[in-house]
Amino acid sequence: MADTPIDLRSDTVTKPSPEMRRAMAEAEVGDDVFMEDPTVNRLQARAAEIFGREASLFVPSGSMGNLVCLMAHTRPGHEIICDENAHLYSYEMASISGVAGLLPRLVRGDSGIMTWEQIAPAIRPKIYYRAQTSLICLENTHNMAGGTVYPTELAHEICDRAHDAGLAVHLDGSRIFNAAAFLGVEVREITEKFDSVQFCLSKGLGAPVGSMIVGSSAFIERCRSVRKMLGGGMRQAGVLAAAGLVALETGPKRLRIDHENAKFLAEQLARIPGLRINPARVQTNIVIYNVEETGLSSADFLAELARRRVLGVPVDQERIRMVTHLDVSRNDIEKAAATVREMVAELVSTR
Ligand SMILES: *Cc1c(COP(=O)(O)O)cnc(C)c1O
Repeated sequence: MADTPIDLRSDTVTKPSPEMRRAMAEAEVGDDVFMEDPTVNRLQARAAEIFGREASLFVPSGSMGNLVCLMAHTRPGHEIICDENAHLYSYEMASISGVAGLLPRLVRGDSGIMTWEQIAPAIRPKIYYRAQTSLICLENTHNMAGGTVYPTELAHEICDRAHDAGLAVHLDGSRIFNAAAFLGVEVREITEKFDSVQFCLSKGLGAPVGSMIVGSSAFIERCRSVRKMLGGGMRQAGVLAAAGLVALETGPKRLRIDHENAKFLAEQLARIPGLRINPARVQTNIVIYNVEETGLSSADFLAELARRRVLGVPVDQERIRMVTHLDVSRNDIEKAAATVREMVAELVSTR
């Protein structure tokens, strides 16, 4: 359709491919609460294998995956440490406290990257009258920092030191395959030290629904009960898992293209007077830029852009996020950048 907008709001907007729809239609299914759905079981086995773990669990969303892991690692009244811009702190309906009963202890990372030196002072002393820290949460890639990739050495060091201190470490790896593609390594190499990992099938990998949790068998058994408690026990979920399997096998290989497109978009935007962005900082598929100098708020900028059939989302008053994904081509990105350029030029000339 000529009038279909170029949708850069998120990599969650991707539609299932014909191959996925075929796999969904033909999926062998059973009741997954009885653990009898062969397609769900295959997806879980495959995810565990790719991450080099004992077990894995299919969950309806990344938010539920994170919450299930947090609850399986902690008890109400515990503290968890995370970056101040962590997705699980800012964008998951305060479920950390509202559902899991946890107190988030925030650390100001550098572009979402925390060091052990920043984390250590946030750990509560082991005294009976102080709330106890039980978990540290990292995010890779970091969404609101612009898709930044955790340096592997740093992540490994945090896991080692945390374990020495008797703490578990959870990875919100919603876009962990993007991080692996950027680093040119396997996901297992950058996640092996974490006690649990959540990753999304429904983002860059292209599945319509779902996330996975990976960890030890004992941990995943606890997660299965927590998932049921939260209402996430699904029945013939094989129709969704079938799409997830296609996403897992075909999605990671092509993320490099999204990253090239994001870099290209950032370079084009950097040339537009009034927009601020450093393309050198764009590592994966997320592009965040500042529009303050155009005189428009991010909301007004996006509203005007939407009239021209290009979509993004606001990060705050001044910044906009655009995300590349498998449903936008290089040609779409060229068109989107040209549309932004024309729009900004018109705005400047009419002021
Ligand atoms: C998208 C996202 C989530 C949550 O996933 P949903 O499936 O939307 O609930 C969690 N963490 C990060 C970093 C994300 O980008």
